[in-house]
Amino acid sequence: MPRTITECNVQNCIHWMPGDNCSARSIEVVPSVKDANCSTFEARSLEAARKEIDNINLLGTLAEPFVKGGSNPEVLCSVKSCKHNRRGYCTAENIRISGNQASSDSETECNTYQLD
Ligand code: SF4
Ligand code: SF4
Repeated sequence: MPRTITECNVQNCIHWMPGDNCSARSIEVVPSVKDANCSTFEARSLEAARKEIDNINLLGTLAEPFVKGGSNPEVLCSVKSCKHNRRGYCTAENIRISGNQASSDSETECNTYQLD
């Protein structure tokens, strides 16, 4: 099964790349009050950059830096109520994560969430 394509507009996240791409090797989506958050969100700072260096999808980042939503981190997901969740993984072809002014992971949202 092809990996989910992730498009994200959370520009304040350390993993955000031009083209609304995510440079993380994997992300984790978790349940929230409304529906689902990206818990891999980390606000931009020097300390965060040092911490997150191990989770960078270097090849994907170099290959697809400016293709809109062209990134494909592995998408782990614990939102059991979503119809795209299969055993802890997202099976949607594409997901859209939003939260343009987010300062914490609770302000991000998976817009592709669909109640099962
Ligand atoms: S909020 Fe999540 S999907 Fe968006 S860039 Fe950050 S880690 Fe990637
Ligand atoms: S679409 Fe559903 S399964 Fe996929 S990441 Fe979003 S909430 Fe999780």
